[in-house]
Amino acid sequence: MKWLNHTLIAGAVCAVISPPHVAACVAGATAPDWFEYIAKLAGRHIKHRGPTHVFTHWLLAAVAFTFIWDYHGLLAAFAWGGVSHILTDAMTVSGVPFSPYSDRRFHLFGGRFRTGDPIEYAIAAGVVVACIAVGHITGGGGFAPFFYDWGGLYQQGLIDGAEWKANRFRLI
Ligand SMILES: [Zn+2]
Repeated sequence: MKWLNHTLIAGAVCAVISPPHVAACVAGATAPDWFEYIAKLAGRHIKHRGPTHVFTHWLLAAVAFTFIWDYHGLLAAFAWGGVSHILTDAMTVSGVPFSPYSDRRFHLFGGRFRTGDPIEYAIAAGVVVACIAVGHITGGGGFAPFFYDWGGLYQQGLIDGAEWKANRFRLI
């Protein structure tokens, strides 16, 4: 799945649950892919959607950070973002490894589409719309309608924290 869609899905869900953690969550939502890049820089060749995309690793990390130990909720947000990445990659044709102990690929909803397929964007849009709805229903004073751009810019260090705070509720 494309990074834009990973980012939208994780960002939208996280914005409903906890807006201050969107940046960490979005970083985690793309991590399984950029971990591969880091490994490559370190001279280790690893298969695409291999060791960094193991479902059980991310799930265990997320559960551990949520219930055992964490740093301001950031690690849990990061790890849950990673889980969202694996789950959404699992909807694509090539799937992801379910656990490190088997080569079996893990698919969600039949693994019907290929990365870059229009369906991917439709799924991301659906998740965003659903999250906005949930935000409204729960009265979500915390929901940032178009958090993505501001959260993303903040992450890239293009704007500072105050600016992000001031703008994160603005609908573009
Ligand atoms: Zn991936």
